Amino acid sequence: MPKECPMCGEFMRLVTREIVSRVPGSSQDVTTLVREWICRECDYFEDDDSGGSS
Ligand SMILES: [Zn+2]
Repeated sequence: MPKECPMCGEFMRLVTREIVSRVPGSSQDVTTLVREWICRECDYFEDDDSGGSS
């Protein structure tokens, strides 16, 4: 479902981004997937809160 940017009114894009973080004391990397709405007109972005994965 499209979402409008509150700043400029353009439609925003839902993108999935990988955040890689190093575990302290370990050689393993943990990859966390986050979903964000991004506006390409004004660079506004916000977290996607419709996933309900809490
Ligand atoms: Zn915008």
